[in-house]
Amino acid sequence: MILTTHILSGAVLGANIQNPYAVAGLSIALHFLLDLFPHGDYLNKKSGLREFWKVAIDLAIGFSLIAAILFCRGFTSTGGLQNIAIGIFFSLLPDGTTFLHIWMKMKFLKPVKDFHESLHRHENGSPERQFRLKNNLWDILFSLIFFILIALR
Ligand SMILES: [Zn+2]
Repeated sequence: MILTTHILSGAVLGANIQNPYAVAGLSIALHFLLDLFPHGDYLNKKSGLREFWKVAIDLAIGFSLIAAILFCRGFTSTGGLQNIAIGIFFSLLPDGTTFLHIWMKMKFLKPVKDFHESLHRHENGSPERQFRLKNNLWDILFSLIFFILIALR
């Protein structure tokens, strides 16, 4: 799923769980769980590094939303800002390992990358994996739910 969805999911866990190790573990698990839902991706195995401006925009949107929520709501969180940061970091980590494996050629990460890829219902490069509205309704729904959960906290 897009990084914004993962950022919001990690922030929700971090804001609600006190134990930082639990936040880290659950954030990784939730990433894999979310990827089970069909979704398009704006990068595929053929994407080159020059397409990474899309990642920059995605990250900027995700972090802006978190910053806006924290700014507007004032800061209240069970585990502190630190746990929100931990949640976000570990929610992004699975996609980080894919990046390091494919684009930084870190071969030892292949098992992680293969497991991650195997969770996706549709094959990388298939029409169902294209980034378009009808393929990304789960992204929108989950982002909305996570946004509401953290904004209303
Ligand atoms: Zn993923």
